Amino acid sequence: MVPTPTQQISPDLSIVVPLYNEEANIEALYRRLKTVVDAMGVSYQFVFINDGSRDRTLALVHELSRRDQQVCYIDLSRNFGHQIAVTAGLDNCTGAAVVIIDADLQDPPELIPQLYDKLLTGYEVVYAKRLSRPGENAAKLMTAKLFYRTLAAITHVSIPVDTGDFRIISRKVVEALKLMPEQNKFLRGQISWIGFRQTYVEYDRAQRAGGETGYTYSKMLRLAIDGITAFSDFPLKLASLSGFVVSGISFLVMLYTLYSRFVTHDYQPGWASLMISILFLGGVQLIAIGIIGEYIGRLSANVRQRPLYLVADTNIQPAVSYEESR
Ligand code: UDP
Ligand code: MG
Repeated sequence: MVPTPTQQISPDLSIVVPLYNEEANIEALYRRLKTVVDAMGVSYQFVFINDGSRDRTLALVHELSRRDQQVCYIDLSRNFGHQIAVTAGLDNCTGAAVVIIDADLQDPPELIPQLYDKLLTGYEVVYAKRLSRPGENAAKLMTAKLFYRTLAAITHVSIPVDTGDFRIISRKVVEALKLMPEQNKFLRGQISWIGFRQTYVEYDRAQRAGGETGYTYSKMLRLAIDGITAFSDFPLKLASLSGFVVSGISFLVMLYTLYSRFVTHDYQPGWASLMISILFLGGVQLIAIGIIGEYIGRLSANVRQRPLYLVADTNIQPAVSYEESR
């Protein structure tokens, strides 16, 4: 695999699973994962992250870790949300390759060997692209579709549509993610931003095995806003754009106002001066907001503190390694 210098990399595979009120699924999930990875003949670890569950999830995870020393767990102090739970898993897992998978068995563990084999043919990221999503209500499908299409239209980073976080990534990508200190995580966008060689495997998404979705509409909205603001300045640019459009229209209307005032004399007293000042001010204000927006866009890009670039390959020996440079 692709070891970073000086780091002890084992096992071959880490499987990161965020858990929020998943007591109904853990046992089945564990059994299916275990069957699949045992058959792959690689060394592995499971990393279960309990994201502040209010049911018996944590107790069940403890129980598993007692039974099976391949099971590691991270218990977060409260519910931080899916993206942060996964980040905690990525930060703490040690595998040369890392699978991110949902606990509700909507992402079939049986796809993991395929993802892994593809990774070994020379990719750094292999994501699972869903062909269908049965068992989810129309509103969720619609909002998801709208979100993915909008995001694709307004960002320069090519974030694959119709993929969740189910994917396998190499250690190189995990280390790159650790270099991105942003507070509002949108992992699939960040992973696309990282680049390297990426590909996908297609699959049909299953229904949730048990329990209920932990993604409320407010959590989905948060994720959508995080994704858009982290990977696009378009909402900010909207102000300057509309400023120019409004100013253009205003200018035409001003011409018409002057024409009525001085040529056709078809007007009420005060109308022309009112019209002109409102139109003029409206345009100027929107343009001014747009200019502020442009600066804020640059500020937010700097505040994100992403690395400027990541090196895919070089023959220059690094003076210090990732680990030592911290
Ligand atoms: N999850 C989490 N914290 C949350 C919500 C969800 O760790 O606040 C986990 C959940 O246990 C599951 C994964 O994130 O493993 C995906 O959540 P869910 O299936 O509820 O999302 P959906 O598939 O409905 O989008
Ligand atoms: Mg789900």
